[in-house]
Amino acid sequence: MGQNSEPSNRLPIAILGAGITGLSAARHLVRAGRRVTVFDPAPVPGGVIRSERHEAGWLVESGPNSLQETPAVAALVSELGLGPRRQPSAPAAKNRYILRDGLLLRLPTSPAAFLRSGLFSTRTKLRVLHEFFRPKRPRLQDLPLADFFREHFGPELLAYALDPFVSGIYAGDPAQLSARHAFPSLWKGEQKHGSLLRAQLAEARAKRVRGEPAGPPPIISFMDGLAELPQALAASLPSGSLRLNTVVKQLTPGPNGWILDNAPAERFDRVILALPAPALARLGLGPPGARTSLASLDLLEHPPVTALFLGYRRTDIAHPLNGFGLLCPSVEKSPLLGVLFNSTLFSGRAPAGHVALTVMLGGVRQPDLARQTLEYQLPIVEKALATLLGTRRPPVFVHRTHWPRAIPQYEMTHDSYLEVIAAAEKRLPGLHIGGPVRDGIGLPACLAAGERLAGAALVA
Ligand SMILES: Cc1cc2nc3c(=O)[nH]c(=O)nc-3n(C[C@H](O)[C@H](O)[C@H](O)COP(=O)(O)OP(=O)(O)OC[C@H]3O[C@@H](n4cnc5c(N)ncnc54)[C@H](O)[C@@H]3O)c2cc1C
Repeated sequence: MGQNSEPSNRLPIAILGAGITGLSAARHLVRAGRRVTVFDPAPVPGGVIRSERHEAGWLVESGPNSLQETPAVAALVSELGLGPRRQPSAPAAKNRYILRDGLLLRLPTSPAAFLRSGLFSTRTKLRVLHEFFRPKRPRLQDLPLADFFREHFGPELLAYALDPFVSGIYAGDPAQLSARHAFPSLWKGEQKHGSLLRAQLAEARAKRVRGEPAGPPPIISFMDGLAELPQALAASLPSGSLRLNTVVKQLTPGPNGWILDNAPAERFDRVILALPAPALARLGLGPPGARTSLASLDLLEHPPVTALFLGYRRTDIAHPLNGFGLLCPSVEKSPLLGVLFNSTLFSGRAPAGHVALTVMLGGVRQPDLARQTLEYQLPIVEKALATLLGTRRPPVFVHRTHWPRAIPQYEMTHDSYLEVIAAAEKRLPGLHIGGPVRDGIGLPACLAAGERLAGAALVA
């Protein structure tokens, strides 16, 4: 989107939500020469991105812990002047451990490592090789992600690769998620190539042609945590653009622009809603007496997750912690979804001589455990960590964050939610809705959603 390509004398655009999606939309609109006002009830921008420095030097990430540095993210980091603050993940982060039969085994990251790996049987290895020759067949209907993946790679890869991966990203269950919505790149890869392995090879070739580095994008954070990104985005907006501690409940379109209940004297050209589904569901939209309701979005499944940030003396853990972390497949029946090795991933997360872990609990698998108190959860977690990582003493620092509705699950009914959103936009011209409810849940997807929303608001 070009800079200053639109006149600035038009009414400003209202953006609800100062999370990463709303801030990204705001940045793109400002660069196109538009005025914006971003509303958020929270006292700080960033939404679920929360990095807090605690006593003695612990750096707690309560929400997301890391960011995939796609080319678009790299460009943004550089434009915002965050280059000197950027932290690449440690080389050891390429190791990811998977729990199998009580042991932590490395997830193979190359074809040669896959063939050598003790994580999968010879039968599964042969099955995966065979997938390369899978013919292209048109698939007309969506299906559960688990069925889609099993069809390609068999039950063992589903149980010990996809299932823990889905837990790590969605805190979800592949049997419930829609293949088409939850992993659109796999879906499209199959449509185009038949085989997911051939699709991966084609993508690697396309990257080479685009001049992008091979392999997955680097994983990054910042010296004071991920919150540096929304803070820098917010600081890049003209002063007065951000209205924090402000609750908006009703939005009414009129002949002279949109009116928000909390700012009745102001008018807005258009409105962008960069909100999670439960917040969208509570909004009053449209003229009084003819409100458009997004209430059904409240039914979109968002399982609860508890993130336990635990600090240990280094000498109190036997495991080398030489990795990104560990994931627990559901067949292993562990009380944990997974554990991130924060202080291995990025420096500056723990005081000298100490290490930091984040344990994820709950998700679709064990929602009740996520809802329990710290007193209930901690002994369960300590027992599991003693077995998995050889912890010898209790943690010296504990910080608990409970997300009652953590991550939207793109299940088989997801089309019905997308239809509700599209119908509201159609009925109320000048209204644009996006973010994880519609555009993907990872931070790069949210940044791209902000750009999409800004583009839609500019052409509408
Ligand atoms: C526990 C957890 C771990 C995660 N880990 C990762 C990870 O490691 N890597 C990754 O890429 N992604 C991760 N994600 C996903 C990613 O962090 C989110 O999808 C993304 O941050 C969502 O940004 P957003 O701006 O769309 O929404 P949010 O961050 O939810 O922001 C929405 C904002 O809207 C505000 N709001 C609510 N109601 C109103 C209203 N009526 N008017 C105005 N404003 C309102 C809220 O206060 C909030 O600030 C994680 C998510 C969670 C919950």
